[in-house]
Amino acid sequence: MQIIYNTLTRQKEAFTPIEPGKVSLYACGPTVYDYFHIGNARTFTVFDMVTRWFTTTGYDVNYVRNITDVDDKIIERANENTEPIEFLTQRMTAAMFEDADRLKLLRPNHSPRATHHIEHMLAMIKTLEDKGYAYRSANGDVYYSVRQFEGYGKLSKKNIDDLQAGERVAIDSHKRDPLDFALWKAAKPTEPAWQSIFGGGRPGWHIECSAMCKAVLGETIDIHGGGWDLQFPHHENEIAQSEAANGKPFANVWMHAAFLNFDSEKMSKSLGNFFTLREVLNKLDPVQGGETVRFFLMRAHYRSEINYNWETLEDARQSLLGFYVALKDVAPADLKIDWTNGYAKRFREAMEDDFNTPIAFATLHDLRGEVNRSKSPEMAGLLRALGGTIGLLQETPEAFLQGGSSPGKDSLDVDALIVARNAAKKAKDFARSDAIRNQLDEAGIVLEDKPGGVTEWRRK
Ligand code: AMP
Ligand code: ZN
Repeated sequence: MQIIYNTLTRQKEAFTPIEPGKVSLYACGPTVYDYFHIGNARTFTVFDMVTRWFTTTGYDVNYVRNITDVDDKIIERANENTEPIEFLTQRMTAAMFEDADRLKLLRPNHSPRATHHIEHMLAMIKTLEDKGYAYRSANGDVYYSVRQFEGYGKLSKKNIDDLQAGERVAIDSHKRDPLDFALWKAAKPTEPAWQSIFGGGRPGWHIECSAMCKAVLGETIDIHGGGWDLQFPHHENEIAQSEAANGKPFANVWMHAAFLNFDSEKMSKSLGNFFTLREVLNKLDPVQGGETVRFFLMRAHYRSEINYNWETLEDARQSLLGFYVALKDVAPADLKIDWTNGYAKRFREAMEDDFNTPIAFATLHDLRGEVNRSKSPEMAGLLRALGGTIGLLQETPEAFLQGGSSPGKDSLDVDALIVARNAAKKAKDFARSDAIRNQLDEAGIVLEDKPGGVTEWRRK
């Protein structure tokens, strides 16, 4: 039985899907004005892990991660670059998929783009207006009237009066209440605009997700997710819009991934303390990079904050090397998981307990010890298969241990040097054979002499 911590109830609950055997999952995706950073990557990896795990345990998952391709930041950046908005968003969307592939994130079943769903947003805004939840203001904006929605604050546990006390009414505001938020923003000369019954304009951010979620998955979904920061106001506003418009619960379970921090502060574009996933991966070996970052992001529980630094990333890489060294000498047997096996059982229990990856990883470590001791092809197969349920240990050991093109390897012809070293050894020219070994060692390459005169190599 799958247990999930539901932000809505602040409790762990047994997961009951709306339709037996199926999971509808909507996770808020990136705003495509720049490359995404490793903090965003954390949240995306969490929902990738959730999708993979549900699939492993027999669910048919419909996983949606949207693309926000119209928003203030996009407009600002395109204006700075003096390029059309579509040029920027198309380039960044392509880059987003490229980076996501390098991180071995599954492609979502659907990646709806906001600009392809304007009609759905307008229809929802109209329904909200008809039901008395939305009003037009004198300047052409349309606002959501927060006080009309009884359950406002139920996700973030905020009290509407406390919220109001913290707000200042801006002099030029067209809102009836400072808590109200824009559903439709009246057209401005420097901004993209669509024609509508409300006049020319563009959608607010929150209505994008409510409308796309309904269009792709329906009115009530199993799980809605995103990063911790989205609880308020974004997800609170999504609930207010969707439940008021549809007259039904919006999402049964809300899951939020904790922050990835840098120097104990949330990594974010606005603080400027960010590293794009792309630059992190470019610093790592091309074969090792994807799994190394995944390992680093998933070994902490998804509700615990993590700190990004190069040392912990290198530590993750070293752990993975250890796994691949264990797998190298044993040809793994059948990759089908025997869930009655003790390791498999412990791994599954951990994952079913609100995706407890730290315990799942500890189980993999113990299983690795078992593979090292027993050299059992069954245990090696199980290790690979369990790792595979969360997208790890899927490279061949040779490929992972040797890495792809990286400076040390490119500038040295490792295989030729091994041949030369072995020839020197045979000729009893040990000074030369040692010199070659040292040269390789300095380049970060370890040699292992195997029986039968075979020499294997791997990266440190
Ligand atoms: P954005 O492109 O900023 O809208 O963010 C896309 C997703 O990444 C959202 O689900 C955010 O909550 C999440 N996110 C942003 N920054 C971080 C961070 N430092 N750690 C974890 N998740 C984040
Ligand atoms: Zn959203």
